[in-house]
Amino acid sequence: MTRHIDLRSDTLTQPTPAMREAMAMAVVGDDGYGEDPTVTRLEETFATLVGKESALFVPSGVMANQIAVRVLTRPGDVVIAGANQHLVSFEMGASARNSSVQFALVDDSAGQLRVDDVLDIIDAENDHQAHVAMVAVENTHMFWGGTPWDVGRLSLLARAVGERPIHLDGARLFNAAVATGESLRDLAAPATTLMACLSKGLCAPVGSLFAGPASLVHAARVERKRLGGAMRQAGILAAAGLVALETMVQRLEEDHVRARALAEMFALAFPESGYDPSSCRTNVVSFVHPQARQIVYELTERGIWGQTVAPRRVRFVTHAGVTDDDLEFANGVLESFMSLR
Ligand SMILES: *Cc1c(COP(=O)(O)O)cnc(C)c1O
Repeated sequence: MTRHIDLRSDTLTQPTPAMREAMAMAVVGDDGYGEDPTVTRLEETFATLVGKESALFVPSGVMANQIAVRVLTRPGDVVIAGANQHLVSFEMGASARNSSVQFALVDDSAGQLRVDDVLDIIDAENDHQAHVAMVAVENTHMFWGGTPWDVGRLSLLARAVGERPIHLDGARLFNAAVATGESLRDLAAPATTLMACLSKGLCAPVGSLFAGPASLVHAARVERKRLGGAMRQAGILAAAGLVALETMVQRLEEDHVRARALAEMFALAFPESGYDPSSCRTNVVSFVHPQARQIVYELTERGIWGQTVAPRRVRFVTHAGVTDDDLEFANGVLESFMSLR
């Protein structure tokens, strides 16, 4: 195979040697009986990190989000979310299927939600409209270039919605923490419940964590079982998750630096996109281009693998499998690509 750099997703990361060793040595039990000490340790470690009472280990980020909707809503309720959030666009309609809720979508093109947009939808309850049960936010916002929320804005939103719960889709919350310098605890504080993925930039093979108040995590445990996500000797997986939390967070900074370098290259190669590389603050390079599918196809043929996430929107993601040498290679490919056009 000719040389290539795989920027399709940070889910492509491989477990590290330390993870494989921890997995081999993990003390395990049946988590269905609450008897896997490694799972319990992972859940407690995460809950402490994000400043919540309790946490639950689940097989995937989608399941964590779906559990959140299940525990925070009743059928027919409204969920406020950004129009391009994962929960809305990338979960195969699961919230409708699993929880019979409807979305009220607000503009999220700045990577964040505007407080007034959210309040308007809540206020519509006074005009005989359906009950708004929760607000969902995403940090970092994948679709809009991995944008981290401003924590002040998120706190403002939380105060404005009052008792109404906020669920934070923090698939890349660790990236947000590293990029903004805020603590995980501060980023999580405005949210009632949250989830974070271990299997993306942190390189664990499987798993996400859901966290919140003990009563909701208790309910989440039931929903996890209903969705078929209760696991047995899952400490094998949780052991890798612990290594991820303990050793893999700070290195995300490298992914961010490389993403910015790539962003500069793409902005130069595709000036017609109007892409501003300084908008790349974490590990996602994403921009709009009229020939997005064609670009992805042609770059893939030349060894830069990416993908489209919507018509006319391309995405390239950096991760632990990408080196500075790979960036040199990508730069060479993009330069020769430019000279062709
Ligand atoms: C990847 C992702 C998810 C889902 O995680 P999976 O583990 O792939 O199910 C949810 N939200 C966002 C923002 C994501 O990027």
